[in-house]
Amino acid sequence: MTDVGRHPRIKLYVLSEVKEVKGSVGNFKVKILKKSRYVDEKECTACGDCARVCPVVRPDAFNYGLSSRKAIYSPFPQAVPSAYVINVSECLGHNPAVCAKCVEACKKGCINFHMSDEEITETVGTIVVATGM
Ligand code: SF4
Ligand code: SF4
Repeated sequence: MTDVGRHPRIKLYVLSEVKEVKGSVGNFKVKILKKSRYVDEKECTACGDCARVCPVVRPDAFNYGLSSRKAIYSPFPQAVPSAYVINVSECLGHNPAVCAKCVEACKKGCINFHMSDEEITETVGTIVVATGM
């Protein structure tokens, strides 16, 4: 996964879903919905300062609920990109006036509640479906 993240010729979309595929072999148009993570993935250093102050504690699905995580968290160790994400359905402060403790704690200023989902269209020649587990 890390190698994929670093590869100069691979564009990695995480938190994303394929919404539509049109075309045929050699010329597919793929519509991708890239969901907002509310953290600038290029700037985040995964320092964890934001999670330390977040008051929301939830079971960590990666560890089958045996451990806990915050509403702002890293999905799992070695996640690519190495950036935190906010689960907005758990966050108290989608309106920053309500909480925003993480915003104050992040020295790099990479938390942004105004981010929105993006729709991206890629043109590709081939599609490989690999479910992984
Ligand atoms: S969002 Fe900010 S405080 Fe949180 S891990 Fe990233 S850099 Fe650190
Ligand atoms: S704004 Fe949301 S993610 Fe940030 S500290 Fe508050 S509850 Fe946690």
